[in-house]
Amino acid sequence: MAINIAIDGPSAAGKSTIAKKLAKKLGYVHLDTGAMYRCTAYKALQKGISLEDEKDVCSMLAKTEIELTSEGKVLLDGADVTMAIRADEISLAASKVSKLVRVREDLVRRQQKMAEAKGYIMDGRDIGTVVLKDAEVKIFMTASPEARAKRRYDQNIANHIPTGDVAEIAEDIRKRDYEDTHRKASPLCKAEDASEIDTSNMTIDEVCCAIEALAQPFLEKENA
Ligand code: C5P
Repeated sequence: MAINIAIDGPSAAGKSTIAKKLAKKLGYVHLDTGAMYRCTAYKALQKGISLEDEKDVCSMLAKTEIELTSEGKVLLDGADVTMAIRADEISLAASKVSKLVRVREDLVRRQQKMAEAKGYIMDGRDIGTVVLKDAEVKIFMTASPEARAKRRYDQNIANHIPTGDVAEIAEDIRKRDYEDTHRKASPLCKAEDASEIDTSNMTIDEVCCAIEALAQPFLEKENA
């Protein structure tokens, strides 16, 4: 039987890049839960709904379809928003809606349902602590604030996403770190049974290898 791998950590620590690569290698499904909070924030902004209005955001979400395709596309009510939800403005807005308890309940339910079949690599902030408490492998991925800001800047440029300079991104990341670790509902924290990996001075391949090594005993059982 396949396993589930949970990857948590602060913004721009490299979670999605690693999860995507590892999923391809293992034949697993990558689920970027941040994209779901981003879609929620994006739609609320478009509809002029206050990001602090739990009731309105929740009833909007109840009528919202979010699909993460196997090709890495994000579909919001059928429309491709893969790039649109990556704007810096949406990052901060996602952090705001992610404080709403009922929004989290809705999205967590969807995530748990998807991962029931196993064979998922899910990345986010509360995967090891809330969504997949029983994941066989749990990683808490960190990197220095400087490394994270530089990576996010390079990623924005490469994907033609409007971007601030590295110092502006560092400030956004600092704000989001604060909001994500200080909110009441499922604040970002390391699960007791998670392995911490600081990726500041590691290549993507090195991080993938480190996670694969942790997953190896489970994968061997899967293939036995
Ligand atoms: O991972 P990403 O940066 O795309 O996530 C955007 C925001 O969504 C995060 O800053 C965080 O506030 C929220 N989030 C969350 N729980 C998750 C994934 C993301 O609260 N599982």
